[in-house]
Amino acid sequence: MTGSGRSPGSTAPRRRNWAGNLEYRSATLAHPRDVAELAELVRRNRRVKALGSRHSFSDVADTDGVQVSLDRLPAHVVVDRSGAAPAVACAAGMTYDQLSDALRGQGLALPNLASLPHISVGGAIQTGTHGSGAGNPALSGTVSAVELVDATGRSVLVRDDSPDFGAVVVGLGAFGIVHRVTQRCVPAFEVAQRVWEDLPWDALLADLRAVTDSAYSVSLFTRFDSETVDQVWVKRRMADPPAPDLTEWGARAATSVRHMLPGTPPDNVTEQLDRPGPSSERLPHFRPEFRPGRGDELQSEYLVDVEHGVHAIAELRALGDEIAPLLHTAEIRRVAPDTAWLSPSGARDSLALHFTWQSRSREVAALLPRLEARLIALEARPHWGKIFTMGAADLGRAYPRLGDFAAAVERWDPERRFANPFLDRVLGAAG
Ligand SMILES: Cc1cc2nc3c(=O)[nH]c(=O)nc-3n(C[C@H](O)[C@H](O)[C@H](O)COP(=O)(O)OP(=O)(O)OC[C@H]3O[C@@H](n4cnc5c(N)ncnc54)[C@H](O)[C@@H]3O)c2cc1C
Repeated sequence: MTGSGRSPGSTAPRRRNWAGNLEYRSATLAHPRDVAELAELVRRNRRVKALGSRHSFSDVADTDGVQVSLDRLPAHVVVDRSGAAPAVACAAGMTYDQLSDALRGQGLALPNLASLPHISVGGAIQTGTHGSGAGNPALSGTVSAVELVDATGRSVLVRDDSPDFGAVVVGLGAFGIVHRVTQRCVPAFEVAQRVWEDLPWDALLADLRAVTDSAYSVSLFTRFDSETVDQVWVKRRMADPPAPDLTEWGARAATSVRHMLPGTPPDNVTEQLDRPGPSSERLPHFRPEFRPGRGDELQSEYLVDVEHGVHAIAELRALGDEIAPLLHTAEIRRVAPDTAWLSPSGARDSLALHFTWQSRSREVAALLPRLEARLIALEARPHWGKIFTMGAADLGRAYPRLGDFAAAVERWDPERRFANPFLDRVLGAAG
């Protein structure tokens, strides 16, 4: 096992998350090389926390103990075709682009992907990370089993028929260190992506469900301060009937490749202009070879029941003059329900309202309470990996199974080995 720690008094900089807005308190990062070393590490340390690819903006992965990276655990991908649908088990520290490449070699694919392909599988599912599509649940929604080293240092298999699976799968790192994830997959499929511009808000809001359900994956990019939605990225499966023409709703088809930030060169975005290609090269917004080591942005996201979608958008447009000056862009997506207790899209057909902010932490932190106040009445749920300021009472109302989750954490980790201040704040909401 190797560790990159700091000796007392060392002035070496601490590790930061990808966006650089957070310096982890943990002085030590351990890199176990096999599950036995991982188990030993958990047994020996009073406080431990898994660290994925560091793409969260919140302090969800922080600890005052040892952070554990799975980047040196052997990568493996094992496909099982014996059941009704194919399943793939992989090392939890692998990234989605690594997993997608391996699946492609076997004629398979994951049903959906997030916007960035470099996020670790373990870290993504633990926070309820999602892609887009009215029929597509969060990435955790296709997980059928996880294997994790629990607080006693044992490796435990938790399958989707286990009573605590709904707590553990979107577990915020509270149940242990997941080293293997099994997911349902599908035969490889092709997708073509087309961008539309200047969709009038009135037309969209009159038909929000129809537009967001008009193709396999639909993303709306906006700054909430004009009369039109800047761009609509429509990703259709080639096997599906053609996607509707958005000129029916008043939009224009883009005639060249677009970045979602108007005026930015489009070199990093996935292929557009309706050219078909493998789903793993169309469903993410960014190309796998585009690997920024750090990001010049912050993110927040809130998920509401799609029933409240029009109301939620009206609230955000009313705040448009305050939101827009701090934004790079905002993205609106649909997410299908899943059964994880703390999934932001758990048990409800959701509209996800995402904000990519400029790196202006203080101003964003000052705006968020006002923005959240408009969404709290709609029982908005924050994305756990992004920045939010909602307090315990509001979290408790938005997540009806939070009490069950807290009870499961108490059973699994009575000595709070995997605790951190983020988890304390969330569990505080359970009363
Ligand atoms: C550019 C960018 C684009 C993004 N796009 C999307 C998007 O399209 N959709 C979306 O929903 N989110 C998106 N996100 C947010 C991101 O998916 C989440 O923050 C995700 O949790 C990050 O995963 P990670 O591997 O970096 O985990 P980390 O941020 O390192 O950790 C997140 C949590 O998972 C836990 N964890 C990590 N690995 C394990 C493990 N092996 N076992 C147990 N617990 C573990 C950590 O302890 C922590 O609690 C994006 C973020 C960025 C920076």
